Amino acid sequence: MNSGNQSYNWSELGEEMSASTVEERSCAVLNTFRDKVEELKRQGLYREFIACSNLAAERGHTVHNGRTIQVWCSNDYLGLSQHPDLIAAQIESTKIHGTGNGGSRNIAGTSTTHVDLEQRLAAWHNKERALIFSSGYVANFESLSTILSAIPEMVVFSDANNHRSLIEGIVRARSKKHIFPHNDLAALENFLSEYSYNCPKLIVFESVYSMDGDVSLLSAICDLAEKYNALTFLDETHAIGVKGPTGAGLSEELGDHRATFVQGVFGKTFGTVGGYVAGPDSALDYVRSHAPGFIFTTALPQASLDASLKGLEIIQRSDELRQTLRTNVRILKKALANAGIDFLDADSHLVPVLVPGEERIRRMSRHLIDEYGIYVTPVNFPSVPRGSERFRVTVAPYRTPEQISYFVHALQQSLSDD
Ligand code: PLP
Repeated sequence: MNSGNQSYNWSELGEEMSASTVEERSCAVLNTFRDKVEELKRQGLYREFIACSNLAAERGHTVHNGRTIQVWCSNDYLGLSQHPDLIAAQIESTKIHGTGNGGSRNIAGTSTTHVDLEQRLAAWHNKERALIFSSGYVANFESLSTILSAIPEMVVFSDANNHRSLIEGIVRARSKKHIFPHNDLAALENFLSEYSYNCPKLIVFESVYSMDGDVSLLSAICDLAEKYNALTFLDETHAIGVKGPTGAGLSEELGDHRATFVQGVFGKTFGTVGGYVAGPDSALDYVRSHAPGFIFTTALPQASLDASLKGLEIIQRSDELRQTLRTNVRILKKALANAGIDFLDADSHLVPVLVPGEERIRRMSRHLIDEYGIYVTPVNFPSVPRGSERFRVTVAPYRTPEQISYFVHALQQSLSDD
C-alpha cells in the first residue's frame, strides 16, 4: 500500500474502496500527466533544460557536462551578475545579515535595503512609490490582478505580444479586455473609443518586446491614454538598464514619463533576482495591503537586494557599459549580414536570428554546443508563431570582436552543415 494515500479518507467521500483500487485510481490520474507530456513530445513542444553553472571568473561562460562553453542567449545584458562589485556587495551583506530574511514583508521581512531600494526605484522612474516583488513575473501578475480586481468595471486594452505574466494578471481579475494587434495604434484607438470618457480604462504594454526585439510606440500610446482618459501599465523589463541615459528604460530614453505604472526586473540587466512596480502612491499602497503574492510570501534576502542596489548604482553612474553594448550589437549585426544570416534588425540590444523549423533549430542548438561550445537556446511555439523559430541572441559588452566573429562563424557553419 502506498503510505502517501493514507491521509485521504476516501470512504468519507461515500466510496468504499480497497487499497488497490485507490492505487489504481491514483495511477490512472498520474498517467494522464504522462499522456499529456507524451503529446507535448509528439508536437515537438517538450522543453529541455540545459544544466549549466555560470563562471563568475570567466564572464559569459558556463560549465555544461564538465565543459566550459559560451552563453549567447543570456538576459544578463550588461554582465552584472558577474561584476566584482555586485558579488562583493552580496557576500558582505550575507556576512552581516545572513542568507535569508526569515519572513514576509509584514512579518520581520522588510529590511532597510527593501525600503531604501524602493525609494530609489521610485525616484529613478519619476513615480511616487515602488514595491519590490520576488520576481518580475510576480510583480506583473500581482499588481495587475490586484489593481484590476479593486475596480471591476475597469476595461483593459492589452498588446497582443504582451508577456505571459501580464496576460495572467489580467485574466485573473476577469476584467473586460480587448487585445489589440501588436503596436497597432488605430486598432487600440478603435477599442478605446467604444467607451465613455469616464469609464475606467487601463492600457497594458511593454517597452521592448523580447521575441522580436522591437520597441513600443510609447509616446503615441500615452497620447491616446490622455485623449481617452486611460491609465497605462508599462512593462520595462527588457529596457531597464539598457535604455535611457541612466538606464531607467524607454520612458527615460524618450523623456516621456507619462506611463502610470512602470514595471522592472532585477533578474535581467541588474544581474540578480526580483521585480518591482513603480507608480502612484495610492494605488501601490493598496497593492501592498492586498496583493497575496506580495503579502503571503517570504521577502527577498537583504543580501540579494544589496547586490541589486549596487547594480542600480552601476547602471545609473555611467553610460559606458550601454555604449559598449550598442557597439557590440552593431558589430554582431554587421557580421551576421556579411555572413548572409537571416536576423531581425530591431531597435534594441536583442538580435533574433531566424532558423525556421522546430526540429531543425533544436538540432542546430545541440550542434552548436557539441561542435563549437556555443550555447544559444531555441525559441519555439508558443513563444513565437510556428515557422518563425529563432535564436534570441544577446551580445554582452564584455564580448570581444574575436568572440563575435567566432560566434557568427559557428552559426554560419552550422546553418550550412544542416
Ligand atoms: N516581463 C517580461 C516582458 C519578461 O520577458 C519577463 C521574463 O522573461 C518577465 C516580465 C518576468 O520577469 P522575471 O524573469 O523576473 O520573473
